Amino acid sequence: MAKRSEVKRTVPPRQATEAPEHDSARLEALFASIGEGIIATNERGIITRINQAGLDLLGVKRSDVIRKHFLSVIIAVHDNGTPLDVYDRPIVRAFQTGKTVNARTLYVQKDGTLLPVQVTVSPIILHGRPIGAIEVFRDLTNEIESDKLKSDFISIASHQLRTPLSAINMYTRMLHDGLAGPVTDEQLPYIDTVLLSVKRMNTLINTLLNITRIEAGGIIIKKTMLQLDELSQEVLAEFIPAAEAKSISLTVDLPERMQPTSADSLLIKEICGNLLSNAIKYTAPGGHIEFSLIETAKDLHWIVSDNGYGIPAGSQKNIFLKFFRAENITNKDVSGTGLGLYLIKNIAESLGGELWFESIEDVGSTFHFLLPKDPA
Ligand code: ADP
Repeated sequence: MAKRSEVKRTVPPRQATEAPEHDSARLEALFASIGEGIIATNERGIITRINQAGLDLLGVKRSDVIRKHFLSVIIAVHDNGTPLDVYDRPIVRAFQTGKTVNARTLYVQKDGTLLPVQVTVSPIILHGRPIGAIEVFRDLTNEIESDKLKSDFISIASHQLRTPLSAINMYTRMLHDGLAGPVTDEQLPYIDTVLLSVKRMNTLINTLLNITRIEAGGIIIKKTMLQLDELSQEVLAEFIPAAEAKSISLTVDLPERMQPTSADSLLIKEICGNLLSNAIKYTAPGGHIEFSLIETAKDLHWIVSDNGYGIPAGSQKNIFLKFFRAENITNKDVSGTGLGLYLIKNIAESLGGELWFESIEDVGSTFHFLLPKDPA
């Protein structure tokens, strides 16, 4: 029987075990070196650690917060100064869901000043149970200030562009109507192109102004009693010429003789108009669009469905972002700014409603706008 060959093992030299205080010192240095505020809590929400940046941001001393309950010493409020409901606090949501929670909120500093912050809370999970949480927060003051400057600039520039644009519009119209002498058949298409471009630019300026207004929290909702079947029909009528020009067929399903409902006509028209305009823009000639409104006891639900280009799966999460346009339409020569959906999503949410969609590339898209009715 062959003798089993002996294997020589080299045993690595024994690592000198580091004292637990090394770990602790390392963690302390890590906390101290991060420029954002960091707070660690145990599983009961008691603050066990906070870094200097966190103390500075909150304007507190370590002894003010350490070993205190997070919710009793870190006060978060709404824009109007009322405290956030406990269940809306990111740390509570992180403990409840076991997931990382991101949120924007306002913290109250020790001297009462409100500090806008971006908060990320991650629960620390061990054997499936949260044993604590880490919150990272950063000051948004400068970001908000520069956003405001940007919005103010866009708003002023847009207002200033309106005046010369209306002059271009008026004089081109006069040329078109022969008020400056006869226009030849050859000249007419050029004049039409100028008028169309002016119209587009006007729409863009209005969109930019609406966006700056919304971002400044200045969306004004004016409700009146409306016949929403008629209003929906009116919006649709504006788009029939564009659909016909592309030989796109339309199916319309609206309730008949609806009871008057309290709603804002301009904002609803803006949302439905944008969805219809997109459906026409992003559907190939000969395609089909369905426009419907479903009324329930509680809600109004508009649906705009098309069998157009669809939205690639990879782009869907970005579709409501400002200036975002999906890559499948950028080579299709369809004009756009990527602002419409961002705008109407904000409008829908200011109305207390929701906007969402389903889409499959090269099959089509369905956009939904759900508006809760005012309680009777
Ligand atoms: P715009 O149409 O000016 O580009 P929007 O914000 O209205 O801006 O739309 C953003 C993007 O969403 C579009 O550029 C397009 O990629 C995609 N999209 C919107 N509606 C549809 C639709 N019905 N079908 C396919 N893609 C759409």
